[in-house]
Amino acid sequence: MNHSAFGGAATLEVPAYVKHRKLIDWVQRIATLTKPDRVVWCDGSQEENDRLCDLMVAAGTLKRLNPELRPNSYLACSDPSDVARVEDRTFICAEHRDDAGPTNNWMEPSEMRATLESLFDGSMRGRTLYVVPFSMGPLGSPIAHVGIELTDSPYVVVNMRIMTRMGRKVYDVLGTDGDFVPCVHSVGAPLAAGQPDVSWPCNPTKYIVHFPEAREIWSFGSGYGGNALLGKKCFALRIASTMGRREGWLAEHMLVLTVTSDEGRKYRVAAAFPSACGKTNFAMLIPPRSMDGWSISTIGDDIAWIKPGKDGRLYAINPEAGYFGVAPGTSEKTNYNAMATLKANVIFTNVALTDEGDVWWEGMTDTPPAHLIDWQGNDWTPEIAKETGRKASHPNARFTAPASQCPSVDPDWENPAGVPIDAFIFGGRRSGTVPLVTEARNWVEGVYMAATMGSETTAAAAGKQGVVRRDPFAMLPFCGYHMGDYFGHWLGVGERLDKLGAKVPKIFCVNWFRKGPDGKFVWPGFGENMRILRWMIGRVEGRATGTDHAFGVSPRYEDIDWNGLDFSREQFDQVISVDDADWRRELALHAEFFDSLRHRLPAALTQTKAEIENRLTPA
Ligand code: PGA
Ligand code: MN
Repeated sequence: MNHSAFGGAATLEVPAYVKHRKLIDWVQRIATLTKPDRVVWCDGSQEENDRLCDLMVAAGTLKRLNPELRPNSYLACSDPSDVARVEDRTFICAEHRDDAGPTNNWMEPSEMRATLESLFDGSMRGRTLYVVPFSMGPLGSPIAHVGIELTDSPYVVVNMRIMTRMGRKVYDVLGTDGDFVPCVHSVGAPLAAGQPDVSWPCNPTKYIVHFPEAREIWSFGSGYGGNALLGKKCFALRIASTMGRREGWLAEHMLVLTVTSDEGRKYRVAAAFPSACGKTNFAMLIPPRSMDGWSISTIGDDIAWIKPGKDGRLYAINPEAGYFGVAPGTSEKTNYNAMATLKANVIFTNVALTDEGDVWWEGMTDTPPAHLIDWQGNDWTPEIAKETGRKASHPNARFTAPASQCPSVDPDWENPAGVPIDAFIFGGRRSGTVPLVTEARNWVEGVYMAATMGSETTAAAAGKQGVVRRDPFAMLPFCGYHMGDYFGHWLGVGERLDKLGAKVPKIFCVNWFRKGPDGKFVWPGFGENMRILRWMIGRVEGRATGTDHAFGVSPRYEDIDWNGLDFSREQFDQVISVDDADWRRELALHAEFFDSLRHRLPAALTQTKAEIENRLTPA
């Protein structure tokens, strides 16, 4: 760690290993604008990390957890107003409004730059500006890309160290003129001399801004998750999606896993689900005991960068190095591998603290501890919870943990060449209408399924929960350009694979979340999802059978292996049935969504919609 005093006009001290003129000039420019007390060049070392954690413990931002129960781990509790991504404050400032499209907030770039200039002017006063070099993807991999985040939040620094390949080595990759994505972040809470700090500084005014043409990210006012760890959603999805479109690859909101069959064959699956719909659980799934010999290993749990290889197949890497997973609902039963990953070296955010100095969240154990300090610092007991309905942890509480600690981590998870994808899965959270699993008959039908995906909203984003909204490809909050062009890009990728005569991945759509008349989930989910995954692999192999319906192929009861699970034909019918009346209503919603994109909507999708409609029995 290299400290340097920085009094605005003072010249910037730069470590000898940083030799990139443009980068140094940019740091100087941002420091002059934001006026921090000092600039620290982060090297990613353990000593630096420990020093920052000590600093945050002293400031009250972090609580050190009991080292016997949770070695080298910390709890951070945020300001109650800063607990999730803020989609209505997230902007794609393309030169032309239409390039951002109707699903993104837009502001004219020069107007936004003027707004940012005044917000960031002096925004780091009294604080330290940290220079955080990071690589998305294995350092030096041809698929990886470098970013530099300038931030006044030490919490962001220690999280980025887990979530990305962060540190000094990035400068070796960059050299004197390498390419990087500049990311500027401020919590927007300057400190006057002598003024005491708060444990979680932030600002009621928030701006999460992307300039896709300049490939720049600016984030103001929030210290939380995807708003502040700019390598994740801002770079690896919003900016990378625009890079991928230009360069012929895909940046997707997908987990990537390997299925190994009982005969030892390996299949790679990439699956897109909206935030807080179980991507982390699916990526670390343990098959039911009755499916002896089958196993799952984890490549990534949130983001995939997918590029065509020389053989025409699609190769995926996980650009991240850690998991920023939803804690509530995670338990030894629902995700054994995640719980094992969380044994040490974890930063928890907005979970509850036990009297022993460990953490707890809703769903971690069947019986909650008799007493806790909740995420807002109040006493919490099961009795208080019963009376007030107050939760001990925030529903969007998170863990930040190194991927290398996951027992199911795939031997190829850091393979710089990536892994070849055999199937894509798209899934939403729908209490009705959408069947448990459907295979698209071809690439275009698959793109249609993904494009029209709907999902009920969750706590991962600020706003009302449980409302169905279209979430195409689970990318609604993350696509950095016009959604119609994005669909076109996906169709184009399929066409190119086809022309090369390559093996085109199969596309499936799933819904684990159908509810019965009693309002309860019918499908048990979690490990049992392996039964459905096995059917999909069977389809990839050309062995499994199914039945054709209006918009694809689904399994019949007898096409699924039920050994070891008590799930009746009637229950299966509740989760697999396609109701024509429901689907006519659903297609009307697709039409509404398509209409909002009409100028740039590929004709192949309207065509597919008409074909599905024709297959439904008339009203
Ligand atoms: P998620 O990511 O919303 O996809 O879970 C968390 C975040 O970026 O805040
Ligand atoms: Mn996500």
